[in-house]
Amino acid sequence: MARRPAGRRAPQPATLIPGDGIGPEVIDSAVRMVEAAGGRIAWDVQLAGKAAFETLGTAIPDSLLASLRRTRVGLKGPLETQIGRVGYRSVNVALRKTFDLYANVRPIRSLPGVRSAFSGVDLVVVRENTEDVYAGIEHQIAPGVVEAVKVITARASRRIARFAFELARRQRRREIVAIHKANIMKLSDGLFLACAREVARQHRGIQYSELIVDNACMQLVLRPQDFDVLLLENLYGDIVSDLCAGLVGGLGLVPGANLGARHAIFEAVHGTAPDIAGKNLANPLAAILSATMLLRHVGQTRPAARIERAVSRLLREARVRTRDLGGRSTTAEVTARLIALL
Ligand code: NAD
Repeated sequence: MARRPAGRRAPQPATLIPGDGIGPEVIDSAVRMVEAAGGRIAWDVQLAGKAAFETLGTAIPDSLLASLRRTRVGLKGPLETQIGRVGYRSVNVALRKTFDLYANVRPIRSLPGVRSAFSGVDLVVVRENTEDVYAGIEHQIAPGVVEAVKVITARASRRIARFAFELARRQRRREIVAIHKANIMKLSDGLFLACAREVARQHRGIQYSELIVDNACMQLVLRPQDFDVLLLENLYGDIVSDLCAGLVGGLGLVPGANLGARHAIFEAVHGTAPDIAGKNLANPLAAILSATMLLRHVGQTRPAARIERAVSRLLREARVRTRDLGGRSTTAEVTARLIALL
């Protein structure tokens, strides 16, 4: 079959969800970077979360689901989920379940020129994304007594363990550590570990070890350079991801991917940051690096590499950076400088 030259390939359709809070600001930066770097993406902009609820009366509009079914790939800003009994349920969780985005991947790397407690950190958080307490099964047994159900299945545990070993093999990583609390949750975390061990036996070339989650947190803040691939259930993965972001300079820097067999949604680890939303203060780098993960996912490695180089140069020259990194620049100024550095 004749292949078109790369330059003339039709743009890749992708769903774009600006999100809530700082979402529209950082996603706008990411889209401008992709365009400026020569990425060929045909964005289909869709509302979700609070923005959708306020205009369309639903946090997950049908048009959003239809778009993701069609494009199979999305770039998403953070979505607000209200705390406690009020409001709609988490749209993030709903999207991950609807599209069976079972693997949440968050590369945590020390970046040049970023002041943080550590250097030389290069690890990947692999978080199971579909079950655990995120199943959302909670009930009141009697007034003042509430139960939350933690769901762990062998199928999902084996699947995420296989994913982690496969990622380690592809990225030439040496070691996976499964993080758990099976000393207390003997059945649920016990099953997760049993599945991880079973998969580890089939991948002898990659070292496998285990750490209890509290100890893992301490080891991570003492010697993060010793870690390579972390394999975690959903809740531990959520918490440890933010901890790991703190090791390399904060939430403004860490990108992520939610991956399934057919669909993929890319998003930063951070949330809507209501304290700085709408003020042009948010660090757009996490969203921009999430966009580079999307570009690589769809085979557009050149624009991805160009953006990554520009980010490295921006951080190294240490002139233009947002407040979270000790600078005074705005989101727009960072974006403009990055485009100049391309
Ligand atoms: P958050 O990540 O929004 O903010 C935590 C802290 O980090 C804040 O001080 C914030 O200002 C700072 N921060 C985050 N991103 C930043 C950036 N790009 N640049 C500079 N500073 C940044 O966490 P939160 O306050 O716990 O959550 C706020 C809301 O976000 C909640 O409704 C929560 O449910 C939602 N949330 C959504 C997602 C998602 O959509 N994937 C993820 C996490 C939290």
